[in-house]
Amino acid sequence: MPSDPAQGGITLRDLDDRPVTDLQGVGDKRAAALAKVDVRTILDLISYYPRRYLDRTREATIEALGVGEEGMVLVTVARVSARRTRNGRSLVEARVTDGTGSLSLTFFNQPWRERQLSEGTEAVVFGKMDRYRDKLQMTNPIVDLVGDRTGRIVAVYPQSESAGLQSWDLDGLVGEALRRVMLKRGFDDPLPTGVRDRYRLVDRATAYGGIHRPESMQEMAEARRRLVFDELLRIQLELVRRKVHLERSAGGIAHVCGGHDAHGDLVGAFHERLGFPLTGAQQRTIDEILSDLARPSPMHRLLQGDVGSGKTVVAVSALLVAVQGGHQGALMVPTAVLAEQHHLGIADLLAGLVVPDPGTLMGERPLRVELLTSGATAAERRRIVDGLEDGGVDILIGTHALIQEGVGFHSLGVIVIDEQHRFGVEQRAALREQGNAADPAIPDVLVMTATPIPRTAAMTVYGDLDVSVIDEMPPGRTPIRTDWTVDDGEVWEIVRDAVAAGHQAYVVCPLIDESEALEVRSAEETHGSLTAGVLSDLRVGLLHGRVGPAEKEETMRLFRSGALDVLVATTVIEVGVDVPNATVMVVLDAARFGIAQLHQLRGRVGRGSEQSRCLLVGEAATPDAEERLEALVRTTDGFELAEVDLDLRGEGTIMGERQKGRNDLRLASLRRDREWVEAAREVAIELVGDGDGLERHQTLSDEVALLLGGDEVDYLLKS
Ligand code: ADP
Ligand code: MG
Repeated sequence: MPSDPAQGGITLRDLDDRPVTDLQGVGDKRAAALAKVDVRTILDLISYYPRRYLDRTREATIEALGVGEEGMVLVTVARVSARRTRNGRSLVEARVTDGTGSLSLTFFNQPWRERQLSEGTEAVVFGKMDRYRDKLQMTNPIVDLVGDRTGRIVAVYPQSESAGLQSWDLDGLVGEALRRVMLKRGFDDPLPTGVRDRYRLVDRATAYGGIHRPESMQEMAEARRRLVFDELLRIQLELVRRKVHLERSAGGIAHVCGGHDAHGDLVGAFHERLGFPLTGAQQRTIDEILSDLARPSPMHRLLQGDVGSGKTVVAVSALLVAVQGGHQGALMVPTAVLAEQHHLGIADLLAGLVVPDPGTLMGERPLRVELLTSGATAAERRRIVDGLEDGGVDILIGTHALIQEGVGFHSLGVIVIDEQHRFGVEQRAALREQGNAADPAIPDVLVMTATPIPRTAAMTVYGDLDVSVIDEMPPGRTPIRTDWTVDDGEVWEIVRDAVAAGHQAYVVCPLIDESEALEVRSAEETHGSLTAGVLSDLRVGLLHGRVGPAEKEETMRLFRSGALDVLVATTVIEVGVDVPNATVMVVLDAARFGIAQLHQLRGRVGRGSEQSRCLLVGEAATPDAEERLEALVRTTDGFELAEVDLDLRGEGTIMGERQKGRNDLRLASLRRDREWVEAAREVAIELVGDGDGLERHQTLSDEVALLLGGDEVDYLLKS
């Protein structure tokens, strides 16, 4: 076996130290072309995987391929011509032959085909055989220029027009690189043999050989499995290591959770005052959090719960644990509207609770909850910041303003971050490192999200956190009825009926990604036409991103108090807005929104016992959009919707866009490779052990540093 580390095989780090110019035939010009596709080192090159494979064993001939059948033929271009159709589209026509017959390839709107398919070019063509005016033809087939390569399976590499790189160039270079590695010392395989055997994974040399030069599709699939596993394992090793280190780092606060301390049992008192019993799921997650808080290591936990599942009560319980131990709690949310609303709601929930204060006559004072957003006046901000510093403020609720400089806590004990998908890890870290004047301890962190993501995806994106799930809704909810209609005619009748019955409605205007100004205008126009038309006799408010904080607050107050019947808004109302009397949610041009967003919007209604309705309006421009809207109509289960979303959109949903940096997830897909995510996690936990396990696996550990060093994992976690 060439890959025994004892013999000192070649590591990925070794390959990353060698520039592509080490290869025969790669001079400055070629190197520059390769750099355009981010290939600079031999490692980059062997990680430049084929886009597709041509299975020559399934190759047909022009003669043998029947009309109406799909298949692959190897052809030579006889002649090519280009023209424009009557309606101005470009049309390239190539006449090709393979010795058994000839065929026309026609390409619409691909003018560059004329250059690509010059006379004499050999190409592998995949498409459906048609007959047009008695001639055989394929329209817009897939074309691969593979040169004169032999072999039963031909790898097709992503080619680059602008870099002037063809598939066969890459094939040749990769082949040369692999040959050099195998001629020298072969690949080092850092994966313990036991793990390889358990998951029936091929060794690294076989994997790189099999992905680039497979003898069969089976071999390619086995190679892919191993490389996918490696990618996922590296990520999990990094995440698990972070998690274990965080857990082992002393310096957290061992909170007193039992209620026997000087400040009394605030959590118990809070639960007694709620007008309802906790759901089983709330009780369970509170227990999980409390037991984390009681430990001396800092908590780092994710709370997942569908919209309306009652996360606020759980969050407030955690904050009160801090307060009852004489510390402070902070709740950070992504928008000012949400911060204001949380402040109102939480101040209300906590009204009447007291904390000890030896400086007062009674020896106690009311628990103090404050709101801090960027809209605060200088004086207001001063007052709050002073209170934070001297410990007079027990719970602070706010937006990013919380992590601005100049906000220091007396003793920050618990941080809750709501709707985490809007914050990055840096922000999480910044808040954690906020610094405590009196006490250098690291605060405990609870991250909440109402956008459930599938389990295996959570393992990756939130892989450095423990996870609690609220999987039960408070009782007495009437499920929301959702309809999708192309035409908005009857929608306004439904809104009017709801208002006539004493309820309220939201109308959400189209999401316009490109420009906030356009989005605002569309909201204003919708508001204008509704107030001038079908809803002219109703009280209709308007809320969007350009409305100032004071006006926004006033509008929300009016809507909450019932002084407005209908609220026309952009997605500023997406998260957390809680007006139980609102029973109708209209989303205009709904196909523009993603599943998670629509689910969030829908969650704004159905918060009381009344039957609520969600009306999705507009055409679905694509099959995906249609599936999204149909999924929303079919189910209100956020976890089920998250699965649909992952299926439709792939990792993009979770990972966000990652343009920069080296992307170590080249082959692995969180969607297709779900079971490998779990396997990788399991192995990572095993290898990291109680923290220093990777010291026994130096090469593996070094690979993680090499491929996930710097910002890579942070990108991943940022989503
Ligand atoms: P979310 O998880 O979306 O943040 P909230 O915490 O806003 O949900 O709770 C939604 C609504 O459910 C609130 O009006 C809240 O008062 C109510 N609620 C929370 N827990 C319970 C419970 N155990 N029983 C009944 N109602 C509850
Ligand atoms: Mg909430």
